[in-house]
Amino acid sequence: MNFESNYRELESQYIMPAFSREIMITKGSGCTVTDADGKQYLDLVAGIAVCSTGHCHPKVVKAIAEQAAELIHCSNLFYVPHQGALAKKLVEISGLPGNAKAFFSNSGAEAMEGALKLARIRTGRKEFIACEGGFHGRTMGSLACTHKPAIREPFMPLQPFTSFVPYGDVQALKGAITEETAAVILEPIQGEGGVIIPPPGYLKQVREICDAKGVLLIVDEVQSGMGRTGHWFAFQEEGIHPDIITMAKAMASGFPMGAIVAREGLEFGKSEHGSTFAGGPIACAAALASIDVIGKVLPEVAAKGERFRAALAHLNPRVKGLMIGITIGDHCADVQKECAVHGLLVNCAAHGNLRLVPPLTITNAEIDKATGIINAAVSKFASS
Ligand SMILES: *Cc1c(COP(=O)(O)O)cnc(C)c1O
Repeated sequence: MNFESNYRELESQYIMPAFSREIMITKGSGCTVTDADGKQYLDLVAGIAVCSTGHCHPKVVKAIAEQAAELIHCSNLFYVPHQGALAKKLVEISGLPGNAKAFFSNSGAEAMEGALKLARIRTGRKEFIACEGGFHGRTMGSLACTHKPAIREPFMPLQPFTSFVPYGDVQALKGAITEETAAVILEPIQGEGGVIIPPPGYLKQVREICDAKGVLLIVDEVQSGMGRTGHWFAFQEEGIHPDIITMAKAMASGFPMGAIVAREGLEFGKSEHGSTFAGGPIACAAALASIDVIGKVLPEVAAKGERFRAALAHLNPRVKGLMIGITIGDHCADVQKECAVHGLLVNCAAHGNLRLVPPLTITNAEIDKATGIINAAVSKFASS
């Protein structure tokens, strides 16, 4: 399809300068994207852990195209095609016991808003505990639970009363819970925080503390969920059941979609929450197709992660399936640029941590090519 060739001028004149970017991506297929000049890249950003089925997977494209020709939107005032089937699927893959239920949204931040509202209305309590280094979105409620002062503090005061405790520190968490705590909110692996994996047993201990204190546990799987770590959801590795799970990013392969799944009995009643677009027919069709594709590659995700680990071993990567972090330090942005020059897209999460979140469909040959480029880029800057 044609695109405007003066995109740089148009952006600088008409788009608020909230993003800094250099490459215009115009086409994608599998793990490869093409830029406006026709240069190809192996894509280990994948829309920030969104394009897990690869770019433009034929099954996803077909589901979107067919649904678009039938019905694009109708409103949640009516039954929506595919919503029920998708909700059933989400409840099944969440592994929550009993009759858990879903509520749809259009993004990760909105899924968090749903989780915060649900926790408040059902507990009658106001406060939340979140983790240092955690990221949950940029709407006012989700922002209140996002730690990074640079993105949160300019918008103070924020609405839910949130206190932050060090990630991975069970005692600090225990000490922070009060009579007014509605829920503890955490990522099973911190994504934006730099791909930080907590100590083994952390989630299990947090679950026990929440149970003992009668506090809800909200696990934010927006980035780590949908097969990213080799499980449908990262919390499943520890065999726990959250009260509320938030999901989005990879859910519909890039078509905007999010959801919460909450345990039996924890649900919104009539008119307690809503959304115009959420759970629309195309988003649901795209999600069903995406989950189908992910289900087929899921058994290979752990081994692919180990292939990355072996090839990058001297850099001490943190690996959970295909969610991979490498501490680079001050030269992270240089390494990112050098990789792009050599046809590889990666990005820097917080504190100089290179983040690799490729499509789950990545091949062994693509992993070998990517790790070769990363190793060369890192060694170029290692001594400078
Ligand atoms: C990306 C992200 C969000 C926010 O999702 P948006 O779709 O950008 O609103 C929330 N939580 C986590 C863990 C994320 O990685």
